Amino acid sequence: MHQPTFPDLAIIDGQRINIATLDDAVAAAIGRARAGEGFRLFTLNLDHIVKRRADPAFAAVYAEADFISADGAPVAALARRQAATIRRTTGADLVVPLCQAAAKAGVPIALYGSDMPTLEACAASLLKTAIGLDIVHLEAPPYGFDPGSEAAFDAAKRIEESGARIVFVALGAPKQEFFAATMAGHVPSLGFVCIGGALDFIAGTQARAPVVFQKSGLEWLWRLGSDPRRFYRRYVLCAGALVSLMAGAGRNVIPGGAGGGSPSHNGTK
Ligand code: UDP
Repeated sequence: MHQPTFPDLAIIDGQRINIATLDDAVAAAIGRARAGEGFRLFTLNLDHIVKRRADPAFAAVYAEADFISADGAPVAALARRQAATIRRTTGADLVVPLCQAAAKAGVPIALYGSDMPTLEACAASLLKTAIGLDIVHLEAPPYGFDPGSEAAFDAAKRIEESGARIVFVALGAPKQEFFAATMAGHVPSLGFVCIGGALDFIAGTQARAPVVFQKSGLEWLWRLGSDPRRFYRRYVLCAGALVSLMAGAGRNVIPGGAGGGSPSHNGTK
């Protein structure tokens, strides 16, 4: 079956971005799922960049992902300097359209992470917005679980055996990306879409920033105001990363030290 291809569009702090839009993210995931091929889809934001810089293992996991979108508004703005087609594509924005496409394509999905009441509320909401969606597995690991543990391998096997072809992983970064990377070889037909707190927003257990904050790139400010103790340190580090990115540090450096390179700017698929 012909599958769309996704050439690199931009490189931010050594990490390539190859998904320009929400539609591209949906097409990428559904294309692989219909072909019975697994994949890892991550959404790059400043918090992930801070964590990539601090942990080479996380950077390596990111470098191996199949599909990477620009999640945070600053990352999207920086990426657009290299490829004008890039639009902000967050995990939270992706879940519903991807579930609607999965319903149309007959691709079964699973939800993994968060807690069971959230997953159940989220599934009920998705069944209303993505008519015909086949949700075959819900599972919430104990909070703080190890994504490389025996229990994690067992969970991945259960997800695969449920018949799911796409699993939305809501464990926060870097745990969700480590889980996807560790399990990719173990369950090669499963597509992992790492979405942070998106299921909490859909379930309504956490409120997402009002649209005006999302559109103006100030979602971080709203989150900071809603839980300063939790987000203060994160956003101070993110601000530092943004300053260095704007100054051009680390731009166009291929992960693994293979040398610099110009990203493809054509945005074609
Ligand atoms: N989470 C989890 N297990 C963990 C850590 C986090 O299930 O060990 C869940 C948490 O309940 C939340 C989601 O991961 O639903 C996203 O966490 P966070 O808000 O930190 O991620 P962000 O969206 O900020 O990247």
